[in-house]
Amino acid sequence: MVKAEGVCKRFGSLEVLKGIDLEVQPGEVMCIIGPSGSGKSTFLRCINHLEKVDAGRLSVDGELVGYQQRGDKLYELKENEVAHKRQEIGMVFQRFNLFPHMTALENVIEAPVQVKGESKALARARGAELLEQVGLADKAKNYPRQLSGGQQQRVAIARALAMQPKLMLFDEPTSALDPELVGDVLAVMRQLAKDGMTMVVVTHEMEFAREVADSVVFMDGGVVVEAGAPEDVIRSPKHERTKAFLSRVL
Ligand code: ATP
Ligand code: MG
Repeated sequence: MVKAEGVCKRFGSLEVLKGIDLEVQPGEVMCIIGPSGSGKSTFLRCINHLEKVDAGRLSVDGELVGYQQRGDKLYELKENEVAHKRQEIGMVFQRFNLFPHMTALENVIEAPVQVKGESKALARARGAELLEQVGLADKAKNYPRQLSGGQQQRVAIARALAMQPKLMLFDEPTSALDPELVGDVLAVMRQLAKDGMTMVVVTHEMEFAREVADSVVFMDGGVVVEAGAPEDVIRSPKHERTKAFLSRVL
């Protein structure tokens, strides 16, 4: 579903991604761990067309990100085409970014109705199902300020799912939450993984990574230092940098 080969990204003279190679199979959950500034968010943003790759190949579902193949030629996507591609990918950030003037349900149905042109009736029915799926059936009419951080984050997940994405990206979805609210959000993500969603999750939740991930990638300084099964990377890391990082977070 996601394939990165030698992906490089720089901001001015700062090399942030220095040749990332990794692959996420359909239905797989990959957790990316690593210290602050190692390029985790930048890599997710590249997958979701929020940053342009400078070198290497990055493809989602067999298509080169940012380009379209016609015949044997590649064309760079235009702004509106990029926006369209982005709809196929759901992204959940550390901060929930819900529309404050809309209820939970209105937040969830906004994009399907406005962007996809879904009928309001259908969107509301599906939106209600999604809110139920994230355990918030009784909060449909609440505004974000009337919800806890964990509840807001679950609305954000439901909102991303409403676009029926083929891939979900999570960038530290629980790190802005009070500890007691983290569990409910992780439970929703765990169920999503069980249901077969392909997910790339940047997280510091090692327990989640160990239990839910099919693979764990440790990034440091813009490179993949170590990748593999969760038990291998988290339980018996080979590289000194991985060991040092884990000893700080575990
Ligand atoms: P954290 O764990 O703190 O979220 P991260 O691994 O997600 O860190 P990134 O946000 O990808 O790290 O940032 C990697 C590096 O790129 C950092 O040094 C950051 O300052 C720099 N960077 C990110 N975005 C930009 C930008 N738009 N312009 C310039 N530099 C940037
Ligand atoms: Mg980040």
